[in-house]
Amino acid sequence: MTAVDLMRLLSERLEWQDDALCAQTDPEVFYPEKGGSTRDAKRVCLGCEVRAQCLQYALDHDERFGVWGGRSEVERRKLRNTTPRPPRRRSKLTADEESIILARHAEGMGRQRIADELNVSRFAVQRVIERAEQNGAAA
Ligand code: SF4
Repeated sequence: MTAVDLMRLLSERLEWQDDALCAQTDPEVFYPEKGGSTRDAKRVCLGCEVRAQCLQYALDHDERFGVWGGRSEVERRKLRNTTPRPPRRRSKLTADEESIILARHAEGMGRQRIADELNVSRFAVQRVIERAEQNGAAA
């Protein structure tokens, strides 16, 4: 991982994690020893409203360890091997799209929803908002 990758990861705020049920529980449960049970973690995940986003994040970022989205490492590996990956979303934006992003952000819409609406990458949305905030142009 390069320094740029690390900075991007650190600066990427994941809104769905605000609603992560595991944040209110013992994190150790989600990272059992090799061969240990994942049952307790999966039970927590069952009641978590951001389970789908969590699983997608783990698949997109190739998270190798722990329980994410109610799936163990082995289960995610099987999913990765059997599920065709969706095409990558565009990260190059038009000026109109950047304006829409800033307008939606000012309305309080989350970054993921904006990205979904425009069918562009979440990282591109993040980049536009951060640049505007640095220039003092976004809320
Ligand atoms: S699905 Fe499970 S691991 Fe993911 S945020 Fe929710 S509780 Fe945490």
